[in-house]
Amino acid sequence: MTELLLEGRTAVVTGAAGGIGLAVAQLLHEHGAAVVLADLNEAGAQAAATSIGDRAIGIGCDVTDESSVQGLVDETVRRTGRLDVFVNNAGVTRDASLRKMTVADFDLVMAVHLRGTWLGLRAASAVMRDAGSGSIINMSSLSGKSGNPGQTNYSAAKAGIVGMTKAGAKELAHKNVRVNAIQPGLIRTAMTEAMPPEVFAEREAAIPMKRAGEAAEVAGAALFLASDLSSYMTGAVLEVGGGRLM
Ligand code: NAD
Repeated sequence: MTELLLEGRTAVVTGAAGGIGLAVAQLLHEHGAAVVLADLNEAGAQAAATSIGDRAIGIGCDVTDESSVQGLVDETVRRTGRLDVFVNNAGVTRDASLRKMTVADFDLVMAVHLRGTWLGLRAASAVMRDAGSGSIINMSSLSGKSGNPGQTNYSAAKAGIVGMTKAGAKELAHKNVRVNAIQPGLIRTAMTEAMPPEVFAEREAAIPMKRAGEAAEVAGAALFLASDLSSYMTGAVLEVGGGRLM
């Protein structure tokens, strides 16, 4: 076993200015990859890249925008010469009951998660097909497996990402491009800090491991899927939820 799992490879992570995306970028970098951190928050992406150090680039990108995502892939190849790993991680929530959720809340969540993941999958796989290898990782959620009240938009999008992952995996397998998904449970980030504390505590109490997860614990699953340790896995969905909703 080589010591550095991703030596000489390039990984792109969307939504990497903070939270899970930043933790994924940090861990892939620790294992030898050059990393491109992309985020709607361009200054945040650049600051995050600076905090990682050499072999880290921060780029502004809106994953809902076709030319922005294509630009991200083109810029990555131009600056690092390759693209081996693409993590579709950018995300938003607009939680509300059906009585209160607006069409704008629904459309935004669909655009960021579904169109965004699809644009990343399409643009990254075009480069990887030609190279004859690659690993694409899509961030779903246990909310897409079980459905959460107040998240009819988000649960639908995250379930849709599972279908997209499996369809993409079947299309790309013969080109040695793997597509897998991760379903995190309750992870401590800005996204969950926005939850009412009593809802967070209630969800945490229902987890068999009796605690929320840390972003670095999701990153471990991403490193596994990014590396050759998972070379015979495609179309898989890894649950990282402390036993929740198993
Ligand atoms: P976060 O809010 O900390 O980070 C999300 C990042 O995505 C932010 O930096 C934000 O600027 C960026 N972003 C939003 N819209 C964007 C766009 N259009 N283009 C580019 N970047 C955009 O959230 P997080 O908790 O780190 O979540 C990361 C991913 O993990 C998301 O897909 C989320 O749905 C998923 N997830 C999180 C949890 C959790 O408990 N935190 C659980 C399951 C799944």
